[in-house]
Amino acid sequence: MDETARLRALPSVDEVLRSPAGAGAVGQFGRQAALTAARRSVDSARRAIRGGAGIQPSAEDLGAAMVAQLADAATPRIRTIYNLTGTVLHTNLGRAVLAEAAIEAATQAMREVVALEFDLASGKRGERDDLVRDLLVELTGAEDATLVNNNAGALMIVLSALAAGREVIVSRGEMIEIGGAFRLPDIMARSGVKLREIGTTNRTHPRDYRDAAGGETGLILKVHTSNYRVEGFTAEVTGRELAPIARETGLPLVNDLGSGTLVDLTRFGLGHEPTVADAVRDGADIVTFSGDKLLGGPQAGFIVGRRELIARINKNPMKRALRADKIRLAAIEATLRLYRNPDSLAEHLPTLRHLARSQADIRSMADAMLPQAQAALGPSFTVEVRDCMSQIGSGALPLSTIPSAGLRITAAVSRSGRVPEELAASFRALPVPVIGRIEDGAFWLDLRCLEAPKPFLANLAFFGGSA
Ligand SMILES: *Cc1c(COP(=O)(O)O)cnc(C)c1O
Repeated sequence: MDETARLRALPSVDEVLRSPAGAGAVGQFGRQAALTAARRSVDSARRAIRGGAGIQPSAEDLGAAMVAQLADAATPRIRTIYNLTGTVLHTNLGRAVLAEAAIEAATQAMREVVALEFDLASGKRGERDDLVRDLLVELTGAEDATLVNNNAGALMIVLSALAAGREVIVSRGEMIEIGGAFRLPDIMARSGVKLREIGTTNRTHPRDYRDAAGGETGLILKVHTSNYRVEGFTAEVTGRELAPIARETGLPLVNDLGSGTLVDLTRFGLGHEPTVADAVRDGADIVTFSGDKLLGGPQAGFIVGRRELIARINKNPMKRALRADKIRLAAIEATLRLYRNPDSLAEHLPTLRHLARSQADIRSMADAMLPQAQAALGPSFTVEVRDCMSQIGSGALPLSTIPSAGLRITAAVSRSGRVPEELAASFRALPVPVIGRIEDGAFWLDLRCLEAPKPFLANLAFFGGSA
């Protein structure tokens, strides 16, 4: 048959829709979506034939193609994955996994009508933040508290409410950029304040703050250097040293802690990170921190501190634009409640449970998994149990690592020069994609965040990589 004849022999859109697969698709996805998909599959067959492809698909073939198309379009774009990168709080992988109590509370808030801004005692309008204010005050020792959608928003509203049109003093050593367009100078410009940089990259002294404070100054800002450390010949003015300077000059001291933590991490075998309560006690007038970093809750930006400053922040119109919804508030309340009993935190809060897991525990799980993992990957690959190092991520203790263990995978015989990259791609292509990391020429799965090995190994049976 010549090309024209083969094109003419192609089934019509109507025939595709009347094929068993096509008719099924109409029932499952609706006539409109099925019609669009049928047109697409006929069009692409026509293009393929014109391009010289030797195909002659039947109506049923094209019906099957359209079903595949529709099924793909119906797959949720938010995919569940395994985070075996070794970075527990990975911003690109959604940061904290929530506690069961938070999931239940959020689910209930989604399903039911809730008293969100309604005072049940008086029957009058209430404040949505009241639902979590007392808990935040109790856990941080601050006078008052409020919250917005994330910490970037928290910082913007604080700057705008307390220092619009005025200067904000920041040390050059704290001029941070965090991934994803959070650059302090830009945040400040958008908040309507003027950046007043002081000191140098490596050294800032108390007198730098005193010299810069004047009639134009709105506030002093201290920022946690979340993702780097300045080392060597350095000098930083701590929050505690800044408090008397702020008082002398009559300026509010704002401390952006970034990750922030409500408990002393050393009790979980981690390095020391100043708590929010420490920052409040050291004299900060306002402290801001994230909900989905070390705290282990949903995305949120908490603002705690002096009552009159919190009142000014709450009056700012940005508050309405950045307010938290009922689902988030329910999850936050349940998460914060867990902090009332720090002894059982690691049991209930996945973030701390993962961070607190011992290397011995992870290693013995890895040992137990090894034979099945090796069998699933086949003889072309070598799987070994190795010690490795995890990190917290999301800007908490950026330089400290946590001893961990996992599987190190290499190719027994390397034909392509890019084995680790190809392995990484094969693991990403699994039904539940597995994200590991590439290090020293091998592909690594840090098992710190893996709690259930069984379904993980079942998923691995679909491994389709080759060396
Ligand atoms: C992470 C971080 C932020 C931004 O917080 P989000 O919750 O991501 O909006 C701001 N400041 C510091 C110091 C941070 O570490």
